[in-house]
Formats: sequence, structure tokens, C-alpha cells
Amino acid sequence: MITASSYFKGMFGHKMYKASISLNGTCPNRDGSRGVGGCIFCSEGGSGEFAASGYSVTNQICQAIDQVRRKAGDNAGYIAYFQSFTNTYCEPEYLAKVLSEASSVQGVEALSIATRPDCLGPAIMEVLSRQAKKMPLFVELGLQTASDETAKSINRCYWTYEYTEAVKDLKDIRANVITHIIFGLPGETRGMMMDTVKLAVDSGSDGYKFTCLYVLENTPLEKLYRDNKVEILGMEEYFDIVEEALKLLPENAVIHRFTGDGPKKLLIAPEWTKNKRQVVNYINRRFGL
Ligand code: SF4
Repeated sequence: MITASSYFKGMFGHKMYKASISLNGTCPNRDGSRGVGGCIFCSEGGSGEFAASGYSVTNQICQAIDQVRRKAGDNAGYIAYFQSFTNTYCEPEYLAKVLSEASSVQGVEALSIATRPDCLGPAIMEVLSRQAKKMPLFVELGLQTASDETAKSINRCYWTYEYTEAVKDLKDIRANVITHIIFGLPGETRGMMMDTVKLAVDSGSDGYKFTCLYVLENTPLEKLYRDNKVEILGMEEYFDIVEEALKLLPENAVIHRFTGDGPKKLLIAPEWTKNKRQVVNYINRRFGL
């Protein structure tokens, strides 16, 4: 297991920071093409609350770089991170344009795109393939669970086989695949969570972003939580699961995230994720980082 910071340092020779971008897009299980309402845990901003939406791609990246430059200094590079919604759910020409714009901003050394496995058709893959030849390209896939039954209950609106096919296609164009996995989804046993990790490993995922299930305001999950229909993991319990998951990963797997914390202004539960410093200290201590 390798942490993202040491992996990036080895790859780029210095620290890398993310510059988040919001394209104000949507996704196929919000606009009706695969479903409506979105995944039950997803906020209105489609996980893009951290980005400065409404500005051009270049402006958003420059704003993000300005914010971290004082801390980062000059010996740092940036990953332009297309974070919110489904960033390949668009016309291929538009995708090519925004990727090209992001990659030409001074300081940007890599691109990262969050998307869904069912939004990677041939024309989009062609754009990604061209981009991957110019600059390291990370593609983040929201798997969350390997169970199609759980996927249905969380309204993910794609089949797990679509994920395994997408990983294969992305590896063929030499993109680096990062898989998002949620622990603590409603109805999931520890065994099911480990099955998800095993599926991602067997599919060939390069990196992992783990998170505990957290509840955000104005999501379908909020209603389930208020009605006591879903249990949220405690900190110790959650990291016991992460520890078990880490044992299943190959040595060269990169951990990009040990847990997520959700935007503070929307976060309802779990309480323990609100104290970020305490969580980071706990992770460092527990996993010897
Ligand atoms: S998590 Fe991703 S796929 Fe699910 S509703 Fe949000 S943006 Fe769409």
C-alpha cells in the first residue's frame, strides 16, 4: 500500500495539490437517461461543493492554485480535478476542449476526472486516449459497491459489470484508474464490503478512495437516517473495515483517501468526521503514516 502523497512525489518529483473544477454538469441518474433523483447520498452539487463553480476552467484552476500556493511554495505541481457530477457525460468535443484548457494552465501537470463507468463510450474514450498520451490522466470511478442489489437500493443506476469493463478500457488507454468505495452502505455486511474491494482489485484498479457513508442535507439518505432506517459507522468500526480492506490490496495499490468528510455546511452525520484534524491524527497513528 502506498499513500497518494508518496506516490505523487515519486511520479512528479515534488508535492502535488488538487485544483478542483466544477463544470456545472449533471449525470445520467439525475436527468432521467438512467434514473432520476441521483444516488441517495449525493448532494445537489454532485460532490462539487469544494470547487468554485460559475467561472471558466482556467479561472477555477488559478483560484485554487492561488489558495494553496502560500502553503505549497513554488516546488509543487497541480492536478486539475474535474470533481463534480459526471464529467464525461457530455459531447466529446466539449470534453476535449475543457481538458485541453485545463492542461495548458501553468503549473498543471496531470488531470483527474471523476465519472461513471457508463459514460465512457467510444468517442469519449478516444478523447481520453489522446489526452492520456500528453499528460498523466487519472479517471475516478464511483463504484461504491460490487453488489447490484445494494446499487439498486442506493439508486446508482448502472450494473457492476459496466465498472469492470470500463476499468479494462481505461487501462488499455493507459489511464490511471481510481475507484471510489463506500463502507457502511445500507444492508451491507462486512463480507459484502470486502467483496467490493476484491472486485476492484481483480478488475485492475490502480488507486482507491475509501469513505464511510455520510449523510448530507437534502438527500434521500437524510430521510432514511431521520427515520432510523440506516446506521452510520462509528470511527473505530469504520477504520477496522479499512484495515481489513487494506490487507486485500496489492503492494502497489495507491490509497488516495482513507475517508471522506463531506462539505461541513451540509454534513449531518457522522459527527466524528467533522473534526478533520482528529481524524487525520488517528489515521496517521493507526496506519503508521
Ligand atoms: S454520486 Fe455521481 S453518479 Fe451519483 S448522483 Fe452524484 S454525481 Fe451522479
